[in-house]
Formats: sequence, C-alpha cells, structure tokens
Amino acid sequence: MPLQIYISGKYYDKENAKVSVYDHGLLYGDGVFEGMRSYGGKVFRLKAHLERLWDSAKAIWLAIPMTQEALAQAVNDTLAKNGIKDGYIRLVVTRGAGALGLDPNRCSDPQVIIITDHIQLYPKELYENGLTIVTASTIRNHSAALSPRIKSLNYLNNIMAKIEGLQAGCVEALMLNAKGEVAECTGDNIFIVKRGKLLTPPIDAGILEGITRDAIIQLAREAKLEVAEIPLVRPDVYVADECFLTGSAAEVIPVIKIDSRTIGDGKPGPVTKDLTKRFHQLTRE
Ligand code: PMP
Repeated sequence: MPLQIYISGKYYDKENAKVSVYDHGLLYGDGVFEGMRSYGGKVFRLKAHLERLWDSAKAIWLAIPMTQEALAQAVNDTLAKNGIKDGYIRLVVTRGAGALGLDPNRCSDPQVIIITDHIQLYPKELYENGLTIVTASTIRNHSAALSPRIKSLNYLNNIMAKIEGLQAGCVEALMLNAKGEVAECTGDNIFIVKRGKLLTPPIDAGILEGITRDAIIQLAREAKLEVAEIPLVRPDVYVADECFLTGSAAEVIPVIKIDSRTIGDGKPGPVTKDLTKRFHQLTRE
C-alpha cells in the first residue's frame, strides 16, 4: 500500500495528497508546522509539540479546527496506518484556500496535514566524527518582525542561511541575531561546553524553543552538569571545548569545526557523547 497521508480527516495515497493552489500556506507561507519523531511507535514529547503548534497558530491568528486530543489521535492513527515505528512526523496546518490577496479572513478552510515517513537527516559518519559548519551572513529573523518562536511555514530566513552553508560545503549553518549574538542553526539549536559547563543561547536571543533543547537541558541537570542559558557570541563557540546541535530530526550531533576553526581537539567530546547516550535512552523509555 502506498504511504497514506492525512489531510483534514481523510487519508490519501502519497501521490494524491494535495492542497489547493489558492491555499495561503502555498501562496504566502501562511501556516504553522511541527517536525516530530516516533520511537518504537511512540511519538517523542507529542504534547509539547502540540502545545508549540497551538502557540504558533495562536500567534498568527490561526484557529486549528480540531482539539489537541483529536490531533494527537490522528497522529497516532496515521503512524499505525503506515506501520511506522521509528519515524518522522510532519504536522502542517495551513491557512486554507482563499482569495489572491493577503487577507487571512477570506480563507475559509485551514488544512491539517499529517505526513509520517522515515528520515535520516545526516549520514551516520557525521554523528561519529562531527559536523563542520559556517556562520551565515543571513541573520535570524528579528523577533519584532517575525518571532523565531513561531514555527511558521515561512522558512525562507532559514533557507537563505542553509544555502550559504551548502555553498560552503556544510550541511548546517550558524545564524546570529540582529545584535550579533549566536542564535541557532537553520534547523537546530546550538550548545557549547566550556570548562565543564553546558551553555546555550536563551530563548530571548530569538530562537525556536526546541523540544530536543529542553530535553537536553533536563538531562544535563539530571547528570549534575551546570547549565546556563546565556547570550553567546561567535568567539565563545570558537574557544569552546565542545559544541553540538539538537533537533527532532538531527537528535544530537557534534560540531567539530566552525568557520574553519577547530573546536576543542576536533573530535566529538565526552559531554556530547554522554548527553547523546542519555538522549537515546530517553527516547527508548
Ligand atoms: N531551530 C529551528 C529553526 C528549527 O527548525 C528546529 C527544528 N524544528 C529546531 C531549532 C529544533 O527544534 P526541535 O528540537 O523542537 O525539533
């Protein structure tokens, strides 16, 4: 059976899963989304993802036309229908089809889409040896323009930085905020380790409040590691002992080089390895 995609209460074969060309999700990137993982058939932190989706939607004045409980059920049903145990789930809510004009009030029918599939974001070798990244010249959206806390369908800001990374031969790129502080990568949050302390930019640096980020902070505290959410600048990353990125798709991945500078001894460090192990254990619970 072809992969089944959920769209607003019905299932469609992958090739027939379509939305209107008048959908403002397509015309303007007007909508919100989530990327989640399932491990052994169970969605990791489903409630937290749904809460973030609802917050994103509320922030853009979009009413999701179902309850969180009903959407949770639909996510689990879609996974089961496709027989996916360890997979990736993309949840999308579009503004719906409307007129050719920005006015969201003329869109009648928000579409709720659930895609369940398999994902391997980065090759295994990069998890073992670490990533090389660059700092993009594209800064992260200013919070007062479009808050990075809103996970909207308009990801061009990140895509611009991703292109810079790819052109430099890197699969990820670091983005700074308008103050020149470290914000996050194009699809991942960033952490550094310095003298045994775990440091990461605070939410008000203008970043997505990553669910993997939260899990790592919690795991680090349980491991009695000192954790601080403090503003960081690029030189902090340059002189860090270790650096790693977190995200639902990427999970935890070491960074060993940034802007041609070697981080620590150029190998994934012990804190990164320990937190990765703890994270994998957590996903199996
Ligand atoms: N920052 C950005 C810009 C992202 O797109 C993502 C991935 N959704 C993350 C951080 C990581 O967030 P999470 O751990 O919730 O997947």
